[in-house]
Amino acid sequence: MKWTRKTSKNFEDRRGRSRGGKAIVGGGLIGIIALALTIFGGETGQTVGTILNQVNQQSQNSSSAQTTQTRNLSEQEKKLGQFCEAVFVYNNETWEQIFRNSNSSYKKPKMVLFDDQVQTACGSASASTGPFYCPADFTVYMDLRFFEELHKRFGAKRGDFAIAYVIAHEIGHHVQNITGINRKIAQAQRGKSKAQANKLSVAQELQADFYAGIWANQNKNLLEFGDIEEAISAAKAVGDDAIQKRTAGYVRPESFTHGTSKQRKEWFLKGYQTGNLSLGAIEKIYSSIPY
Ligand SMILES: [Zn+2]
Repeated sequence: MKWTRKTSKNFEDRRGRSRGGKAIVGGGLIGIIALALTIFGGETGQTVGTILNQVNQQSQNSSSAQTTQTRNLSEQEKKLGQFCEAVFVYNNETWEQIFRNSNSSYKKPKMVLFDDQVQTACGSASASTGPFYCPADFTVYMDLRFFEELHKRFGAKRGDFAIAYVIAHEIGHHVQNITGINRKIAQAQRGKSKAQANKLSVAQELQADFYAGIWANQNKNLLEFGDIEEAISAAKAVGDDAIQKRTAGYVRPESFTHGTSKQRKEWFLKGYQTGNLSLGAIEKIYSSIPY
C-alpha cells in the first residue's frame, strides 16, 4: 500500500508499556485461538473452547513468574504502528466523506495498539485477544502479533494490506455501531435459538467485510499490485470453516458466527468492486446466507 505518515489524536500506541500486571510473553497458540473468539467469533465449537481454556491456563502458569517489563519498540515495530495509524486515518477520511454525502455526521472511533493487557469498556483483554472493536467505548483494539499467527498457522499472505483489511473491518463495526446496526442485530438475536442468533452474527460480520471493501474501493489510489490478494488471503484465513477445520477437524455451519472463507472473500470483493453501499444492506446479506 502506498501510504504517507498521518496522525490522529484518537490513536494511541501502548505497545511496550506494561501496566504493572504480569507480562504475558509470546503469541503462540493462544494468539490464534483466542483470536478465533473475537475477530472470528465467540463460539467456534466446544473443542475450541476447551483448547482455549487449557492453553489459557498454561499461559497463566508460565507467566506468573514473569516480572513487569517495559521495552523499547524496534524501528520495524514503530514503522508498523505508523502504518496502522495512517490506515486508521484513511478509514476515517473515507467514512467522514460517505456520511457527509448523506448529510449525516461521522463520529470518529479511537484506536489502541497494545501488546500486554488492556482495560476496555467491554472488559479486560490480554495480548492473546487479538483485534476487536468495543462498541461501548468506540475503540478498536489491536495486538499486532496476531498477523504473524495468521500467516504461520492459517496461511494468510504476509503484507501490509492484510493488516489494512483487518483495521478496515474493525472500523466497519464502528460504522455499524453509529448507524444502529449493532443494536438492530442484538435486538433481532433476543429470544432466538443459538443457530439463528449465530446467523445474524454472520450477517453482521460479512457487512463489516463489505465495508472494508467499500473503503478499499474509495482508496484505489493507495493500492499496489498484490494488495487486494493480501486482503482476500486474510479474509479467507479467518473464515469459520477454515478455522474449524484447522482447530476442530470438522465443520458445523450452525455454529458459524463470522462466515465462511468464501463468503468473507465475496462480501469484501463486492464492496471493493462496486463501491455501492446499498448492495451491502444487512437484510440483503442475511438473505444471501444459504442455510
Ligand atoms: Zn468482526
